[in-house]
Amino acid sequence: MLEAKNGRITKEMEIISKMEEVPITLIKRRVAEGRIIIPGNLRRLDKQEVKIIGIGEGLSTKVNVNIGTSTLINNLEMEIEKAKIAVKYGTDTIMDLSTGGDLDLIRRKLMEVAPVPFGTVPIYQTYIEVAKKKGSPVYMTEDDVLDTIEKHLRDGVDFMTIHAGIRLEHVKKLRDIKRVAGIVSRGGAILAAWMLYNNKENPLYENWDYILELFAEYDGIISIGDALRPGAIHDAHDYFQMAEMVTVAELVKRSWSKNVQVMVEGPGHVPLNEIAENVRIQKALCNGAPYYVLGPLPTDIAAGYDHIASAIGAAIASAAGADLICYLTPAEHLSLPNPQQVKEGLIAAKIAAHAGDIIKLGDRAKRIDLEMSQARKNLDWEKMYSLMFDPDHAKSIREQFGRVDLSSCTMCGSLCVYIILDKFIKNEKD
Ligand code: SF4
Repeated sequence: MLEAKNGRITKEMEIISKMEEVPITLIKRRVAEGRIIIPGNLRRLDKQEVKIIGIGEGLSTKVNVNIGTSTLINNLEMEIEKAKIAVKYGTDTIMDLSTGGDLDLIRRKLMEVAPVPFGTVPIYQTYIEVAKKKGSPVYMTEDDVLDTIEKHLRDGVDFMTIHAGIRLEHVKKLRDIKRVAGIVSRGGAILAAWMLYNNKENPLYENWDYILELFAEYDGIISIGDALRPGAIHDAHDYFQMAEMVTVAELVKRSWSKNVQVMVEGPGHVPLNEIAENVRIQKALCNGAPYYVLGPLPTDIAAGYDHIASAIGAAIASAAGADLICYLTPAEHLSLPNPQQVKEGLIAAKIAAHAGDIIKLGDRAKRIDLEMSQARKNLDWEKMYSLMFDPDHAKSIREQFGRVDLSSCTMCGSLCVYIILDKFIKNEKD
């Protein structure tokens, strides 16, 4: 951000400009303004080649995959497999949300196998370690919190969720203002419990200036967490969500004044007709800071299929200007996902991102749809496979009743519209 403010063009900006077909001057200006961010912790770039991406205004919508152990399921091999699947199927970023096992080891291993921008939520590790060492997480000190953040930065983590927008005054109001689902963010719940027990302000908010110094040193990105996101569509855009967003807007401005790149995290459960408005409000309040949305989920009853429900919400969010979509898997609300569910969640999110980009970016995004339609009309299956999100899956469906001799598929067989039309058009020409 500092380079851009000083009018300099970095090689990362050049790569993004070429990849996204956006003029370099525009990229530079938006990086300087904070509207585009480029992940790349300096420590990590020293030792590993990492995919270069830009997140923000005028760029294609990116997708994130969350992986990581839980306190009940701790299988590093499975998490490595998930990371590899996520990379294979084209995730733009990965977040490690591990809460079980050797957290330092897990984070470092996952970063090794995932050469994409990598994020964490350091408050989880602080909570677990303090609970172990001191008997209860309520004894967590500011130093405990800040030390974990610095450790992650030293390891090369590119972006971190920091829940600095939830304030003591908000948490106290939870007793008086009704909310169906309370706090559904793990980081938010940890901090709220700590604030209520100690009757103290959020240590992340209190130490924001110091946190900015840390992130500036490593060129890390702060993803300002939405601790008070609605966890039920009935809670969407209530006092808590909006109050946190106002604090977040203040934190964004303070970050930019210290040349620290930030993005803002968003909901959560939101009815379909409020999603576009949510994106517009966030963008307006936070002066165009990149918006990172979880879902949004437009219904609360889709468990088992939440990747579909969230893709519906994410497509609308992306079309309205959301910049990074966090996937949900079919296991959401039910279980830690397995590798297959990670793949399904990622592909659903990629479909949503692309559907949104067709609206947001127009021809730049829909060129590939035109190619696909032409290949489909020509029954050019190899070309079609090359343009699909998951060609192997498509191929296995096409051949599920055995290999097809015709150039069509088993749906219409010899009544394939393209064969019929082709015959008649050719006959007419003859
Ligand atoms: S057979 Fe039917 S479904 Fe299959 S390619 Fe032809 S028109 Fe499409």
